[in-house]
Amino acid sequence: MEKISRRQALQMTVAGAAGVTIGGCATVSSSGGNTGAEQEKKSVLTVAHLTDVHVKPEGKAAMGMRQALRAVHALPNRPDVIFNGGDAIMDSLAASKERTEEQWALWKQILKEENTIPIEHCIGNHDIWGWQKSKAGTTGSEPLYGLKMAMEQLGLEKPYRTFDRAGWKFIVLNSMQERGDEGYLPALDDEQFDWLSGELDASPKETPICILSHIPIISVTPFFFVKNIVKDHNFNLIGALAHQDVQRIRDLFAKHSNIRLCLSGHDHLTDRVEYNGITYICNGSVCGNWWKGRFVDCDPGFAIVRFYADGTFDNHYQTYDWDPSA
Ligand SMILES: [Zn+2]
Repeated sequence: MEKISRRQALQMTVAGAAGVTIGGCATVSSSGGNTGAEQEKKSVLTVAHLTDVHVKPEGKAAMGMRQALRAVHALPNRPDVIFNGGDAIMDSLAASKERTEEQWALWKQILKEENTIPIEHCIGNHDIWGWQKSKAGTTGSEPLYGLKMAMEQLGLEKPYRTFDRAGWKFIVLNSMQERGDEGYLPALDDEQFDWLSGELDASPKETPICILSHIPIISVTPFFFVKNIVKDHNFNLIGALAHQDVQRIRDLFAKHSNIRLCLSGHDHLTDRVEYNGITYICNGSVCGNWWKGRFVDCDPGFAIVRFYADGTFDNHYQTYDWDPSA
């Protein structure tokens, strides 16, 4: 048997064997390797992870986004930073330029009016303009085609990047590759994979790392996203709901014991998976069932993630005051 690191030993004590999951929704709290007295210690960074807002001019979406931001700002312990997990707008993959810009204008207006907390953005598939060319009416040669529109609107120089905060290193990924009228493939291309590998190699081994992606790298949520997941005695899972390059990423991550947490959204459900010594958390969605209430087992909400100096964390998913029928 392989030598087990102290971290793995700790997590095996807490979590059992190789894989443990906590799923479902409403309000879910989980901590990263700590129990009891250790939770009394003071965090060094508090993040509000808001993912899948999917704002649009119609219906109750704009008011819902406002209510979520108001709930974040009303927290007794104000978060230091908001992570926008992607899919900020309803959709631009298959939308015209005008429709896309209308949604972004609304996103920016609401942020300007409701948000005073620094925000770090991750790009979601629906933030990418025009990859579904026949529906969007795009040619591919437009200056803001594809990822460029999201980068322009979110003020990003690159679709993936890193930043350091409170002794942690954060790596923000772009989970999507272009795939014709199908839209996107959930995977890193070779260029981004090599960049990620280089970033991990260059990180001091004592620096804890958190990775933020729009699409989950490892998740159990695809099992509950649709009603019928078995066809001809095989699993009939939706390929877009998790990274298809999961095994390549697993192999890379196995070389870096300081990767502690991977946060994602996209599937509008919550789970927590422990695999190979790393915690993977999918943090539901702000919009729930695309602004029509609860989605499967998950109410609209966001997560508060606290990071500690010793490389541990806790994650708490909470709902906010929003009633789609009001
Ligand atoms: Zn998505």
